[in-house]
Amino acid sequence: MPTIEPSPSLVDRIKQLHQQINHYNHQYYVLDEPSVPDAEYDRLMVELITLEQTHPELKTLDSPSQKVGGQALKTFSQITHQVPMLSLDNVFSNDEWQAFVKRIQDRLANDKSMVICAEPKLDGLAVSLRYEQGVLVQAATRGDGSTGENITENIRTIKSIPLKLVGESGVDYPDVIEVRGEVFMPKASFEQLNETAKKKGEKAFANPRNAAAGSLRQLDSKITAKRNLAFYAYGLGFVGKLANEKTFLASSHYQRLCQVKALGLPMCPEVRLLTEPQQVQDFYQDILNKRDSLSYEIDGTVLKVDDIALQEKLGFVARAPRWAIAYKFPAQEELTTVEDVEFQVGRTGAITPVARLKPIFVGGVTVSNATLHNQDEIERLGLKIGDTVVIRRAGDVIPQIVSVVLDKRGDNTKAVVFPQNCPICDSKAAKAEGEAVLRCTAGLFCQAQRKEAIKHFSSRKAHDIDGLGDKLVEQLVDENLINTPADLFKLVEIEISTMDRMGAKSAKNLIVALEKAKNTTLAKFIYGLGIREVGEATAANLANHFCTLAAIQQASFDALQTVDDVGEIVAKNIVNFFKEEHNLAVVATLDAIMTWPDIIVKTADELPLAEQTFVLTGTLSQMGRSEAKAALQLLGAKVSGSISAKTHFLVAGEKAGSKLTKAQDLGVAVLTEDELVALLAKYSS
Ligand code: NAD
Repeated sequence: MPTIEPSPSLVDRIKQLHQQINHYNHQYYVLDEPSVPDAEYDRLMVELITLEQTHPELKTLDSPSQKVGGQALKTFSQITHQVPMLSLDNVFSNDEWQAFVKRIQDRLANDKSMVICAEPKLDGLAVSLRYEQGVLVQAATRGDGSTGENITENIRTIKSIPLKLVGESGVDYPDVIEVRGEVFMPKASFEQLNETAKKKGEKAFANPRNAAAGSLRQLDSKITAKRNLAFYAYGLGFVGKLANEKTFLASSHYQRLCQVKALGLPMCPEVRLLTEPQQVQDFYQDILNKRDSLSYEIDGTVLKVDDIALQEKLGFVARAPRWAIAYKFPAQEELTTVEDVEFQVGRTGAITPVARLKPIFVGGVTVSNATLHNQDEIERLGLKIGDTVVIRRAGDVIPQIVSVVLDKRGDNTKAVVFPQNCPICDSKAAKAEGEAVLRCTAGLFCQAQRKEAIKHFSSRKAHDIDGLGDKLVEQLVDENLINTPADLFKLVEIEISTMDRMGAKSAKNLIVALEKAKNTTLAKFIYGLGIREVGEATAANLANHFCTLAAIQQASFDALQTVDDVGEIVAKNIVNFFKEEHNLAVVATLDAIMTWPDIIVKTADELPLAEQTFVLTGTLSQMGRSEAKAALQLLGAKVSGSISAKTHFLVAGEKAGSKLTKAQDLGVAVLTEDELVALLAKYSS
């Protein structure tokens, strides 16, 4: 029978995939500096494996699908693993998970009932720790699975890894025992490390995995020691026998992890034993929901057949065990192209470049725009129009362009050119000295700034004008009916009712809302003016400090800096704002229309929470967050939006997320909602 030769194009494609994957492996495992997201790498690997399955004659021993990625760096001494360290195969959906279960159940024939040990997939790097007579004598990276790098000195600097096991060698554990697990960098440490790197003008790490790998594969262990790495154990390598020839090992993987934990090694608290494979989807969903609030990065779950006898029956394929699989989360990083860069003008005149992207599904949503912040950011990225970029969207954080994939740059890319003039009003655009942001210099004469200033004035945290949506503001400005926030109060029902989508009833409601907005507080009045970098908290501090609008307007640069939260830049912004004639005219008109209660200066006794900083997070069921904030501020407390080492208390409501984790990491005291209510009651009585 004639054999069918594979087409040359198929052979070429496989060759291409080998080259591409090997190149990405080198960047990722050797240099700790990947250029493409994992999703792109995984797609290439799936393509290769699928081609090899349909054309087994094209599968070669040196195929990347047959190897554990990575190679030990020659700058470290090499360690041969007594038991190989393998990788894991992946699934990406419940259907693929069910297919995996069916495959192993078919293989096991008579042993179909299956307990699963379900673990988070920690995003760090695998290490093997060798203890002899209970003492940590050697630590190695996975490398290519059979040879790893000797990183013993660096591992010794990780606080959660014991240098000596708990118990007595030969009695409580064998004389030789190898513990395997993941070294990772907690999110808070990663953020801090990158912040410091950016400040020093050094290169930031792409993600916590690369930061952990880069920190551990250091020739100078003093650097590793500074990096705050952590470790969770998830398996065993070589294990000797106990002195009395009894075996130390339990017959369940989960029990083995508990044994390792009893020896003093940390085990991830999220590990669960599931009595049947059907429970995996719930575990997966549960861990996915928790992902943002965990203090460490994970990229999926790892599901392992728990019974060691079954594991042994199932055995291994080339690079991974048959008894375990990684069920990965949807990608938070993807590749797309920058189709154009446009410029938006904000409330304060800042001209912001925005990348228009080829729409891409990432982190659960379709993303088609990403802010590029300013010229410095574009230079940092080295971005050109037409480039392929890595886009990241994690949790609720707005999408960001992480890097440019230079390998994929074509011939038709164009430099991003910043405008000389405002793209909206054509006035001159300029950068203040020492600032990265380009601004339109026209202030409220610029249509875009007018619109944004009015939107800000009527926003929820300022005067909360019901029924005055963004579209209506834009229409009113476009039709020249209003130019400043003060003009809002001149609007009449009849004018409003002629606007798009506005009937007589909504026009009447808006007039009522505007009437209501006339009664405000001095803090809201100041905040509503939209002075650069004067947020809600700063506005409240200014109001409480100076007590009157006139005093704030007349305050000197130095006097302003005596107020909490007001530094040189904010003080300068306030002084400059009240220097502008057009601002003074608007403020005077508003002052004549709006009223607010006098501020009565409180004594120290009446401000028992003065000097205390609170942060509120999660859902509060007995009172809204803004109500809680107002009550705390009345007692003198500062309420901030972000946690730092200077925070005194975090009030954590239901579904508290990453702020709670950060507070715990920083050792900030955490109050429940009931404790907050009790505290408020104590001082309000
Ligand atoms: P892997 O990371 O998909 O899975 C194996 C590894 O998972 C183990 O070695 C271990 O380090 C880790 N792991 C985490 N939690 C675990 C747990 N509870 N139990 C057991 N192991 C656990 O495999 P890999 O071979 O290290 O890397 C392949 C993956 O790396 C790819 O799927 C891709 O996502 C990424 N990668 C990306 C690039 C790139 O250029 N972006 C290049 C190479 C690899």
